[in-house]
Amino acid sequence: MKEQKSFELTASSGKNSSAILNLHHWDKMQANAKALKWAGSVLGFGLLTIFIPIVHFVSVPGAIIATPVVYLVVSKLFASGTEFKGSAKCPDCAAELHLDGACKDWPHYVNCDNCRTSIKIEPR
Ligand SMILES: [Zn+2]
Repeated sequence: MKEQKSFELTASSGKNSSAILNLHHWDKMQANAKALKWAGSVLGFGLLTIFIPIVHFVSVPGAIIATPVVYLVVSKLFASGTEFKGSAKCPDCAAELHLDGACKDWPHYVNCDNCRTSIKIEPR
């Protein structure tokens, strides 16, 4: 499910600013579909390297072992998680912040690339 929501950014100095972020919520089905895609890509890569001499001794067993691991990690990472994307001004130095990441719950913390201050992002 995708939505836009207003957020408040608070720097460690106490200054505030606001941002509107695009959110994408992942439910269990979508997380499993994404995990299957990633796991399939890993297995596909392993199977493609069957024809490369010497490399296939490592890549094929590695891909077979990595496939269930990738599936579990990706499905756990995205299950009930929220992906956010947008931009805002740093409350401390007013530099442009490119907010792009994922989290399980709010508040979420990021650092400004310009002044390295810690910024708390929470819904209004
Ligand atoms: Zn800054």
